Amino acid sequence: GAKRAGRNRYRFFEPGMTLAAQARMALEMALRPALVRDEFELHYQPRIDLRTMHVVGIEALIRWNSADLGRVSPGEFIAIAEETGLILPIGRWVLNEACRQTRRLIDRHGRTIRVSVNVSARQLAQPGFVDDVRAVLADSGLPPDCLEVELTESALIEDIPRTAAMLDELRALGVKLAVDDFGTGYSGLAYLRRFHIDVLKLDRSFVLQEDGRISAFDFVKAFVDMAHALKLSVVAEGVETADVLDFLRAADCDEVQGYLMARPMPLDALEGWLAAATEN
Ligand code: C2E
Ligand code: MG
Ligand code: MG
Ligand code: MG
Repeated sequence: GAKRAGRNRYRFFEPGMTLAAQARMALEMALRPALVRDEFELHYQPRIDLRTMHVVGIEALIRWNSADLGRVSPGEFIAIAEETGLILPIGRWVLNEACRQTRRLIDRHGRTIRVSVNVSARQLAQPGFVDDVRAVLADSGLPPDCLEVELTESALIEDIPRTAAMLDELRALGVKLAVDDFGTGYSGLAYLRRFHIDVLKLDRSFVLQEDGRISAFDFVKAFVDMAHALKLSVVAEGVETADVLDFLRAADCDEVQGYLMARPMPLDALEGWLAAATEN
């Protein structure tokens, strides 16, 4: 790859561009044809009920294996996909692939599993987004309550009346709604009153930080109590140690996700994992 594509790519580099700007440009050039070249794949990370320790869902996480650049993490390319608008076709592909694969997983596994799909602000702002979701559910045959859409706080605060109306439409379809990376933004809690959210995903930084006036435990416990009072369930992400798991159980958190239980994995590995997990 790199040599073959190199000649074309370099025409876009202007003299005087910084290295960072060149790297960003290379990434963008490689990203444009990635979908038609079939370079994306979804990995899935199990989500576990903290009381029963049974798997209740999976989160779809995109993986890109670029012919030109090799493996590139979503942390490196999602922001560029958002800026360029490429997130729209990529996001549609993710939604479609996640629903189709989960439908087959449910058929083979014989148990209900909910799939969570990350949706960026740009996708949510598309007028046709709800129609896309409706069409993908119909085409895949996935029951609507087996789909959860994960949104970030920044996606929720852009145009609140419009977003509230859209989320109501999604909910009317039966789709579940989660706020991802909750607490890392600066939006405060006011928007929670405006939207019918089902799940808050607590960012991993919350359980790790012991540098404040209030202990991490007291903070998370108060947060979980508040969420429960608002009829929201709480998922903690990034659980890596048994200590953190105990901490979250004591704080009455509902579900957990993290390397301690399982890493994100390709579909075939997930099937093996699910089969082994349901044996006991
Ligand atoms: P996210 O939605 O908050 O996903 C959780 C991230 O934490 C994932 O990183 C996951 O692999 C990682 N993770 C899971 N368990 C642990 C753990 O125990 N320890 C640590 N340190 N990390 C853990 P990943 O897959 O690199 O994705 C990063 C972000 O990229 C996601 O954060 C999400 O915001 C975005 N993203 C991923 N896939 C998609 C997608 O299909 N569409 C959109 N719009 N964004 C996506
Ligand atoms: Mg997520
Ligand atoms: Mg998150
Ligand atoms: Mg995160």
